[in-house]
Amino acid sequence: MRWAAPYASAACLFCSAVQAASIEGYAFGDVPAEFLGEPVGQYVVNHVSARLIDIMCGVVPGRVVLGCTLDDGKNNRVIFVKEGLSPAVEAAVLIHEKAHLNGWEHG
Ligand SMILES: [Zn+2]
Repeated sequence: MRWAAPYASAACLFCSAVQAASIEGYAFGDVPAEFLGEPVGQYVVNHVSARLIDIMCGVVPGRVVLGCTLDDGKNNRVIFVKEGLSPAVEAAVLIHEKAHLNGWEHG
């Protein structure tokens, strides 16, 4: 978890947050190549409402949180993705979140 407060919360190990202006360009992520790809092991992808994104991923002022990954370190791993995203945006979110499952951390 590398967010500075108030981004950090007990329920948010890794969060994917983008500035609203960046959504259309899918200009977030910048995932290093070594963290791309399908994670090893089990995980679940849940598509949830904006309200649940706020609860599970946290609220990031000035940004739109589209998803996050929770990993308890005991092989309970869940990706939350905001429902209703376009397929391209959702794909970008999943690339980002799967990268976290692959060990990627960002500032
Ligand atoms: Zn992230």
